[in-house]
Amino acid sequence: MKESSELISIVLPVFNEAEGIENTIDTLEKFITNQPQQFELIFVDDGSKDKSAELISDASAFHNNIKLVQFSRNFGHQLAITAGIRYTRGEAVIVMDADLQDPPAVIVDMISKWHEGFNVVYGKRVSRDGESWFKKLTAAVFYRILQKITSVNIPLDTGDFRLMDRQVVRELQKMNEPDPYVRGMVSWVGFKQTKVEYERQERIAGYSKYPLSKMIRLAMDGVTSFSSFPLQMANWLGSASIIFSMGYLLVSLLTTMNTVHFAVFSLFLMVGVILLSLGMIGAYLYRIFEASRNRPLYIVSKTSGFHPSKKTNGQ
Ligand code: UDP
Ligand code: MG
Repeated sequence: MKESSELISIVLPVFNEAEGIENTIDTLEKFITNQPQQFELIFVDDGSKDKSAELISDASAFHNNIKLVQFSRNFGHQLAITAGIRYTRGEAVIVMDADLQDPPAVIVDMISKWHEGFNVVYGKRVSRDGESWFKKLTAAVFYRILQKITSVNIPLDTGDFRLMDRQVVRELQKMNEPDPYVRGMVSWVGFKQTKVEYERQERIAGYSKYPLSKMIRLAMDGVTSFSSFPLQMANWLGSASIIFSMGYLLVSLLTTMNTVHFAVFSLFLMVGVILLSLGMIGAYLYRIFEASRNRPLYIVSKTSGFHPSKKTNGQ
């Protein structure tokens, strides 16, 4: 019998994690047994091509706290989290990776901060084992730039590993953003937020499902949904280049220097600036376009382990 009647939901997005998912389930189940609270594990299979969903479904036959939400195809990590959160029933919801890079032991610290009265407890990575220098460097630079250019305070070096209480989850559920940047949305919501520090572990099995292209897309979603700085930058770059060209015109009128080489250089430079600015405007336009289509954010093909079955769609 559990000492506490509190229910805590853990949401785990899964994409092609068959190699390690059984280990994750075993580790979490062992962890849960030793905790005073009750837990439910909500796995969201994000269109895996391997046996991830089957393995989770098999495990749910042994553990009635395991639930599975299956997407009809790969919709991406952030939407898998968004969907998972909508299926939770717990007073607190924890989001963590399904590869055990976020150590379950940190959950104990998160819960105690929550009991102290915090509504959000996010995990701050003090070290990242087993990740390439490229990933660490780009992540460090990106989070610092993002913090400078956004009006919301998105904490540095945090991923999606965090605890949120029901009040925060309720507010998140009202935000129906296509291409969501969940960690930014949680900061935006406000309430009392704090951090727990942890060391990010190496992946035990499988490989990262975040290739450079997905990292860039996530970074762009973070920027375009929380900052208008790049749009202002187009103005500044444009003004700077107009001032520069005026100055240059003046210098070439006053002197007799050969300007052909420089003309070619400045042509390329200006075309670059214009295309870059257009591209940024395009990225914001695309977000408007996505929102205006009003499609469901994701499509759930099947759920299992929910008793009695609880259905939520992507709207
Ligand atoms: N993931 C997902 N959909 C995707 C990519 C990743 O659900 O399109 C899951 C993945 O299975 C993992 C979590 O999101 O549980 C984080 O991904 P990953 O561990 O590959 O990222 P990294 O830790 O390398 O940044
Ligand atoms: Mg990972």
